Amino acid sequence: MKITAIEMIPLVRELEDAFAGGTYRIVNRYTIVTRIHTDSGVVGEAFGGDEDQRQERVVATARDHLIPLLIGEDARHPERLWQLMADARPDLGNRGIHVLDLNNHGILMQAIAAIDCALWDALGKHYGVPVATLLGGYRDRVPVIAIGGYLKEGIGPEDLRAEIHHYRDIGLSGIKLKVGRLTVDEDVDRVRIAREAAGSEWTIVCDANQAWTPDDAIEFCRKAERYHLGWMEEPVRWSDQLEGLRKVGRASSIPTNAGQGEINRYGCRDLVSVGEVGYLNVDVTIAGGVTEWRRIAGFVAHHHVKMAHHEEPQVALHLLASIPHAAFVEIFPNPKRDPMWFDLPVRQPEIVDGEMLVPDAPGLGIELNEEVIERYRGDR
Ligand SMILES: [Mg+2]
Repeated sequence: MKITAIEMIPLVRELEDAFAGGTYRIVNRYTIVTRIHTDSGVVGEAFGGDEDQRQERVVATARDHLIPLLIGEDARHPERLWQLMADARPDLGNRGIHVLDLNNHGILMQAIAAIDCALWDALGKHYGVPVATLLGGYRDRVPVIAIGGYLKEGIGPEDLRAEIHHYRDIGLSGIKLKVGRLTVDEDVDRVRIAREAAGSEWTIVCDANQAWTPDDAIEFCRKAERYHLGWMEEPVRWSDQLEGLRKVGRASSIPTNAGQGEINRYGCRDLVSVGEVGYLNVDVTIAGGVTEWRRIAGFVAHHHVKMAHHEEPQVALHLLASIPHAAFVEIFPNPKRDPMWFDLPVRQPEIVDGEMLVPDAPGLGIELNEEVIERYRGDR
């Protein structure tokens, strides 16, 4: 199965509404469609990423530095192809200044990730099995939660209650509630309202998007502990992640979750061994693809840490279904927040009793809508 061509198509789509988390505001939805053509007729394809200012550079890095290395290579050897890309070490204008060069390293790892995810789709199609099966096939469904609880002007407790009832009604098993924009006490009160609306069994996790100092985060966790949160995601500011996470994790019974900003296995190792996170939500489309993600999942297993995943359910579902130590797949159930999830795939995986079912079709099992790709292409 020799690779004959690789296409990368950047998509960009303006959102009808802006969405604000603890430390950011989203107004567009970006993603990249990657297609790997082979001489056996198999076409591997995947979409992923939500990168705004750097999307063009991710595509250019793949086109100029990575894709030429892979033409003519056998697509059945993902470790070999991954290493070819990692060893290429293209000159992206690095200056030997660690923090400034991280941007370039992040771009490179996203380019590798886009190709690697499409490669695993091709492998699944070649062997005639879902990617989840190829990776170990631990289960055929994964609990699914909503990313929600966004704050907006004029939104009150009634709206939060209604939002949670809606997620329950459409069969989801929980919510990831955005916190970190208000005072600690106001956020704790939102958690109380959410727990009352959800009932005692339904999953609630919180995500502060790195909004707090360790002291604020500890105060929140101690006060919110009684509402049985599944995890506290990215509680502390970027500047002191490792020690900060460790302090917060040790201060209450709520496990911490982080990793969505890491670009490879080494950063994840430090989050586990120094930051003592309980969950790792490393994103396959940011941190080097399926090949790197499964290395990380293997490493955390012997530290009693569980794997979560940041967004990207079309790939995350397979990863989380493939291992025993996995938590939830997450979606944006609001089409205004993630319109691509609703119409870029021809159909979404089925959700039954709070769980998302792994599609039976080989590969990632997601057929893409050509009309949507053409309408939102960002490369012309
Ligand atoms: Mg997050």
